[in-house]
Amino acid sequence: MPRIAVLTSGGDAPGMNAAVWAIIKLGAANGVEIVGVERGYDGLIDGEFRPLTRATAGGLVPVPGIAWLAGTGGTFLGSTRCARFLTPEGRKAAADRLTGAGIDALVVIGGNGSLTGAHRLAAETATTLVGIPASIDNDVGGTTDALGVDTALNTILEACDRISDTARSHHRAFIIEVMGRRSGYLAMAAGVAATADAVLLPEQPKTSGEILDQLEGLIRASFAPERDKRRLLIVKAEGVPIPTIQLASDLEERVADLDDVSVRASVLGHLVRGGRPTYQDRMLAGRLALAAITALGDGHSDVMTAWSSPMGTPTIDTSVTLVPLAAMIEETKAMLDGSSEVVRRRVRLLREVQGVLAL
Ligand code: ADP
Repeated sequence: MPRIAVLTSGGDAPGMNAAVWAIIKLGAANGVEIVGVERGYDGLIDGEFRPLTRATAGGLVPVPGIAWLAGTGGTFLGSTRCARFLTPEGRKAAADRLTGAGIDALVVIGGNGSLTGAHRLAAETATTLVGIPASIDNDVGGTTDALGVDTALNTILEACDRISDTARSHHRAFIIEVMGRRSGYLAMAAGVAATADAVLLPEQPKTSGEILDQLEGLIRASFAPERDKRRLLIVKAEGVPIPTIQLASDLEERVADLDDVSVRASVLGHLVRGGRPTYQDRMLAGRLALAAITALGDGHSDVMTAWSSPMGTPTIDTSVTLVPLAAMIEETKAMLDGSSEVVRRRVRLLREVQGVLAL
């Protein structure tokens, strides 16, 4: 009987568990044993395998006690950042573990780092594998959405709405910092949806002085006597190199002459990582998992299942393509250095709406 292993690696993202659960059910339905790998690449190197399907008289079924996890955030298999996997020796040890356990193929669910590692494993050891992109930052090249992005955006929106309630009551400018060290996607997408007044992204580099001047101007214009604005919301990505609390206190000092106006900051941090996956993330998990299992059955390897991507080869699901992991690596690099058309278009779009946001 064929055996497929599945692991989650890198930063956890809501929807990882839904994807693992979908793989278990798809495997069981197709007579494929599914084996879970604990703690990402660390567990793979150390051989920490656990069966996720079991044989019954009626055929394979999921092991008991895990079905409820599909609707939860995080990853029940665990995840680590694994230094050993960065070396060819570590990857060879991982491949040997798979062979030793009689495993035919591997599904890697993770962000661009994990999928880069998967590509190396496939290239160096001829391990058959497929990746599923999962990253709340949406920084995996070659897919429009990764698992976790939609849940994270909804969490940020909820936080923006709550903070807006209190900001409006007190005539406040609020800076909300969201995760995204090198990618401002979350800040931009959530900021626009929350009708923020400004969005600060690492993809639009500015000096601290420029940021302070821009925001001071915005506060003065927004809270001018002829306006009836009571809330000012600024969504800032973590990767903008000025500490958020410092930014709030510098701004408050600058507008100290304004009556009844205060500036506050809130850093959402890891709050945005957790939470039950939204419909969109559970739907994506199921469809990307189906494409992954089908791709392995069709003999594909060293590819990622991508959502609504202009790249890759088609699958029976019109929204899902198979993108070579090498192409994912190239596109991710271009996204992170700003040369990707995807990032250029995002920044152009934001520039277009910046004046509208500030009204
Ligand atoms: P994410 O997958 O969320 O982007 P990381 O970048 O931390 O998270 O990557 C997770 C793990 O994937 C790393 O700890 C390492 O084991 C592996 N990995 C990342 N980059 C590479 C690489 N260039 N080569 C081999 N393995 C890598």
